[in-house]
Amino acid sequence: MKIKRIKAIEILDSRGNPTIKSFVELENGLTGSACIPSGASTGTHEAAELRDDNKKRYLGKGVLKAIENVNSNISKKLTGASIENIQDIDLIMIGLDGTENKTNLGANAILSVSLATARTLAFFSKKPLWKIINEYYFTSVKPGFPRLFVNVVNGGKHADWNFDIQEFVISPVNNLPSESVRISSEIFHHLAKKLKEKNLSILVGDEGGYSPALNSNDEVFEYLLCAIQTAGYSKQDINLGIDAAASEFYNNSEYTLKKNNKKLSPDQLIEYYMKLNTKYGVRYFEDAFAEDDWISFAKFTHDLKNNGIVIGDDLYCTNPKRIKRGIKEKTTTAVLIKVNQIGSLFETVEAIRLAQQHSLQVFISHRSGETEDSFIADLAYGCGADFIKTGSMSRSERIAKYNRLLEIEAIEVNH
Ligand code: PGA
Ligand code: ZN
Repeated sequence: MKIKRIKAIEILDSRGNPTIKSFVELENGLTGSACIPSGASTGTHEAAELRDDNKKRYLGKGVLKAIENVNSNISKKLTGASIENIQDIDLIMIGLDGTENKTNLGANAILSVSLATARTLAFFSKKPLWKIINEYYFTSVKPGFPRLFVNVVNGGKHADWNFDIQEFVISPVNNLPSESVRISSEIFHHLAKKLKEKNLSILVGDEGGYSPALNSNDEVFEYLLCAIQTAGYSKQDINLGIDAAASEFYNNSEYTLKKNNKKLSPDQLIEYYMKLNTKYGVRYFEDAFAEDDWISFAKFTHDLKNNGIVIGDDLYCTNPKRIKRGIKEKTTTAVLIKVNQIGSLFETVEAIRLAQQHSLQVFISHRSGETEDSFIADLAYGCGADFIKTGSMSRSERIAKYNRLLEIEAIEVNH
C-alpha cells in the first residue's frame, strides 16, 4: 500500500515547549502518527534538533522549519513509497538529509515521520506496534517485558535547584508490568508519606519524581530504603540506581558536587560511587562521568565488576559508532537508547542490535520533555529490552508508557 500524504503539525511537549507530530496517510485512508520528545540535559553528540531562530515565537523554540521540511521535502520524496518497507523509508530520509547529524532536515523532522510510518504499518497490518517492530527488525529476539527503571527523585536540570545527581531510581526485579508498576507506585506513595512526615515538599520535577529539600545527595538513599521497607519490600525485590548526568557538573577535569560541597577528581568520584554501591546497594550507574570521559567510565566498569551495571547515555547518544568504541574499550556494561538522540527508527534498531550482539544490557528511554506518545513501550517490548526508563509514577506523559505496557500484558499477550 502506498503513502498518499505526509503532514506535520506543531504541538506542545510536557514542558510546554513546541514539538512535532507527524501524520502518514495511506491511499486507503489509514493514518498513523507520532509525537517527538525533547531533552534538557542533552548530549553534545546527539543528532540535531531543528528549532526556529525567531525569538518572538515560543522564545525561539518553535519547530516551524522542521515542520516545513516534513510538509515539503520529505512528503514530496515519500509520496507513493510503499509502507511495507519502513527501513527503506528511513534510508531515503537519511539520504535526503545528507549530513552526519541531520542538521539539514532536523532529526526531529525525520524521526517524526520514521515513527509514524512504523505505526501506520502496524495499523495496515492489523498488528500491534510491538509485533511489527519485532517481526520487521528483531526476528531472532523473543518479545519480552523490560524491567522498570523508575526515577522517583529528580535533581540536576530536571528539578533545577537542589541535587547534583539528576535521577534517583528504584527498579523492581519482577518484570511483569502488572506487578512492577504496582510495586513502584506503592513505593512512590510511601516515599511521599515519609517526606510529608518531615514537612518536606512532594512537588514533582520534569520527570514526575519528588525534589525535596534534603541536605545531601546521600540522604535520598536513606529515604528510598525506608520507603521500600515500609512498602513491604526488601533489597532482593528492588534495586537502586542513579543517573548522575555527570556532564552537567564536569569542568576542567573535575566534578563539582555542590550539594556535598566538594570538587572531586575522576578517581575520587569513582570512590564516591563505590561507596554508594557498598553502603546503600546502589547497583545501576548511568552517565556516571562526563560524555567524553571514556577512561573514567572504563575504570569504574572494571572496578565495579559484577556488583553493578554501568550505563552510557550521553556517552553514546544511541550512536552505533560510539557504541562500537565502547564495546572495544569495555567502557560500560549497558547502553541507554533514546530515539531522538539518533533520529530514525532504523538507526535506533542498529544501536540496539549492536548492544544485544555484544551482551550489553539495553535500556530504552524517554526524554525529560515528553508527550502522550507511548511508542517506546512497544519498542522496549518488541526488541526484548532489559529495561525501560520512562520516569516516575506521576505525570500522564510518563504514565502513558506504563499504561501501554499494562495494556500489552493484559490485552495483547495474556488474553
Ligand atoms: P534528558 O534527560 O531527556 O533531559 O536528556 C534524560 C536523561 O539524561 O536520561
Ligand atoms: Zn541520562
